[in-house]
Amino acid sequence: TAAATEELIIPPVQISHTQHLINGQFVDAASGKTFPAYDPRTGEVIAHVAAGDAEDINRAVAAARKAFDEGPWPKMTAYERSRILLRFADLVEKHSEELAALETWNNGKPYEQALHAELPMLARLFHYYAAGWADKIHGLTVPADGKYHIQTLHEPIGVAGQIIPWNFPLLMFAWKVGPALACGNTIVLKSAEQTPLTALYVAKLFQEAGLPPGVLNVVSGDGPTAGAPLASHMDVDKVAFTGSTDTGKIILELAARSNLKPVTLELGGKSPFIICEDADIDHAVELAHFALFFNQGQCCCAGSRTFVHERVYDEFIEKAKARAVKRVVGDPFKKGVEQGPQIDNEQFEKVLRYIRAGIDSDATLECGGGRLGSKGYFIEPTVFSNVKDDMLIAKDEIFGPVQSILKFKDLDEVVRRANATRYGLAAGVFTRNIDTANYLTRALRAGTVWVNCFDVFDAAIPFGGYKMSGIGREKGIYSLHNYLQVKAVVTPLKNP
Ligand code: ADP
Repeated sequence: TAAATEELIIPPVQISHTQHLINGQFVDAASGKTFPAYDPRTGEVIAHVAAGDAEDINRAVAAARKAFDEGPWPKMTAYERSRILLRFADLVEKHSEELAALETWNNGKPYEQALHAELPMLARLFHYYAAGWADKIHGLTVPADGKYHIQTLHEPIGVAGQIIPWNFPLLMFAWKVGPALACGNTIVLKSAEQTPLTALYVAKLFQEAGLPPGVLNVVSGDGPTAGAPLASHMDVDKVAFTGSTDTGKIILELAARSNLKPVTLELGGKSPFIICEDADIDHAVELAHFALFFNQGQCCCAGSRTFVHERVYDEFIEKAKARAVKRVVGDPFKKGVEQGPQIDNEQFEKVLRYIRAGIDSDATLECGGGRLGSKGYFIEPTVFSNVKDDMLIAKDEIFGPVQSILKFKDLDEVVRRANATRYGLAAGVFTRNIDTANYLTRALRAGTVWVNCFDVFDAAIPFGGYKMSGIGREKGIYSLHNYLQVKAVVTPLKNP
């Protein structure tokens, strides 16, 4: 892999918040326990963070319940709520360097990418919901049979429980918190145990923006100890989760067994990226590379099955390999670095196991295949060709920098194979032919189809999965449905 410049961007940040935020106060865990947060570049501990359990969740839910039932949040005018969300977005912009540095420090993603791509998206999402929706949510007047005046009221659901993963800690915070607050709900959010730090930092910015106490509570801790009590809490009115499909099933079950709270799930994927024979090959190589390797390969929608038409297959393999070999892997605080370490030892070992499975099958290892360096969780950009549908690396979500390239002959065949998965999160289609594009976008069973592009994540575009990739959609107008109840009010019309 190519070398980065030696210039290190010094993280302009200190870790100032490690306690839970409950009812507007930063507090220790009820048990007094903490857990370590790590720097994935080295595996060293960088902070000790309050370790939440059922008691912390009870306290946070009680605060959110009170802030919802007694106000002020749902009782404020929508415009007042919108103003607070906009002030928060401004504070995010003001503190984006510290936030990006903290995200990189605890997650390992390249600093430049966090600063220039993710932080603007975080602020933009709050602008989208605050200025776009908060004060424009309303019901209808409905004509019906009989002499009745019928109206629908769109009301907030109440207390939202939100559980987020570690791959995009700040963006996942935004996708969950933005629409929930715009609709007037209160929140208990549990961050991922690998990446607790940035959620606490932005929660503090929300305090500064004037969010009343109890409206947003943030509890750190692991899944079974802190996440499960939130999903099964009787006073939580809705739960939203992003993470693995296996954990998604547990969340749905906990919700059903407790109070039947509605659930939205954004889960795993094994997204096809289809390159037709008429595609612009250089562009397709670059985007297929990006689709898989972006964020160290740790994307639920990663284009992890690269299907290439047989007529352009050999050319594609050569170029995909050359691109992967050129990928700059290294300290994510260094300029020009495209790929940092995997999040932790567990993920690192898991990815290396999948690489070994690929080598043990009949797939051809074109490049990479091992760890990089001797400390931290760095993995070489890895490309397999001659991958077959029934190989483990073509079926399982690897969640790492491992590209699997498969060959196809015709469109019906590639549609059948692309859809032959339990997942249905996203797909990419590369062609210059409008008829091929239209045919594929309709035939593919996935929540997003990107045509001649990939990973375009505007706040207005809905995102979510078919099949076992999830339930519901986030972002855009669609996310509002997750956080609103519809009340029908029926009044007889009488002549006085
Ligand atoms: P990953 O395998 O990528 O870490 P998970 O689905 O395990 O994905 O984690 C995503 C989020 O779900 C994290 O915040 C994690 O703490 C939480 N989580 C994991 N297990 C459970 C569980 N049993 N109940 C509730 N939340 C959980």
